[in-house]
Amino acid sequence: MSLLFCLESDSEYIGSVLPLAEKALIDRIRRQAGAGRRKDILTGIGDDCALLDLPERHETLVTTDFSLEGIHFQRAWHPPESVGHRCLTRGLSDIAAMGGEPIAAFLSLALPRRLPQSWVDRFMTGLLKLAKEFGVVLTGGDTAQSPGGVLADIMVIGSVPRGKAILRSGAKPGDRIFVTGELGGSAGALDELLSGNKKKLRTKDYPKFFFPTPRLEVGRILRERGIASAMIDLSDGLSSDLAQICRESGVGAELKAEAIPLAKVGRRDRQVDIGFALHGGEDYELLFTVKPDEHPPREVAGVPLTDVGRIRRGSKMWISKNSIIHELVPQGWEHFRN
Ligand code: ADP
Ligand code: MG
Repeated sequence: MSLLFCLESDSEYIGSVLPLAEKALIDRIRRQAGAGRRKDILTGIGDDCALLDLPERHETLVTTDFSLEGIHFQRAWHPPESVGHRCLTRGLSDIAAMGGEPIAAFLSLALPRRLPQSWVDRFMTGLLKLAKEFGVVLTGGDTAQSPGGVLADIMVIGSVPRGKAILRSGAKPGDRIFVTGELGGSAGALDELLSGNKKKLRTKDYPKFFFPTPRLEVGRILRERGIASAMIDLSDGLSSDLAQICRESGVGAELKAEAIPLAKVGRRDRQVDIGFALHGGEDYELLFTVKPDEHPPREVAGVPLTDVGRIRRGSKMWISKNSIIHELVPQGWEHFRN
């Protein structure tokens, strides 16, 4: 899910220092990224291409995701560290959803002329901290001037043992549907901002919104233990992402409303409404299906797994509440939809 907003007025940039010129900026990013090393990365930043020596008997995972100012984040709302963290999370979460291990990240960054270099530094700090946490190295990218706001495109390369990637297309009627963690936390925070209740949120009261954790460990363990028949990460919202599993697998689904784990947000740990959990995006949890004879543990890598429904024949999605069943229409985020 994302936000569609006007960019901040140009006057807010005036008076601030500019980003460094391109080559100096790349040198700086190179120094900042320099600490990370892996033996499968032969050449990183500094040549025309990165040179990777990918693991044998593995397949390569490749994913790219935009983070656009005014669409995916607002400079008035998100501290730069959060923008950098979320930017990389989008890529890592896709790798997690395939059961893979991330290796290298590439960052294409277009910056407006009037943007403080301190903003760029803090963005990189957030991104590189997360990279370090998951052993991923920033291995290349591109740097350009943006005619509008900040545009960041992250590409992540990962690997998965041959034939073992968990696809969206593997769900069968009768499989149960599970989600990791709790849902709606990001949308719950966004709602506070959009409703005008608050102009700014404290990051520690809304960790899911500002610093979501990509579920790499969970995804890898589910793949190693052969638990998941299909998997997707929850970036657009449960209803929309489940619809993708249904479409790719040629099946329908039924959710139990009461079972959906609702996130708690804010200083008082207020539970979000079910609508946020069903349709809100950017939770970066995993949704996966499990064959009827599989019994997943309650928790993997400290993250709870919750049974929220099952796969059915047909192509429609349904949701039951107090034994009454309704059709569930995808209402998560989609670009270009009104
Ligand atoms: P070229 O013109 O050959 O694409 P560049 O001058 O754009 O080379 O980039 C030089 C090196 O710096 C390359 O290794 C490239 O991958 C890396 N690089 C450029 N921008 C970034 C960035 N924003 N983040 C990480 N690496 C970058
Ligand atoms: Mg370039």
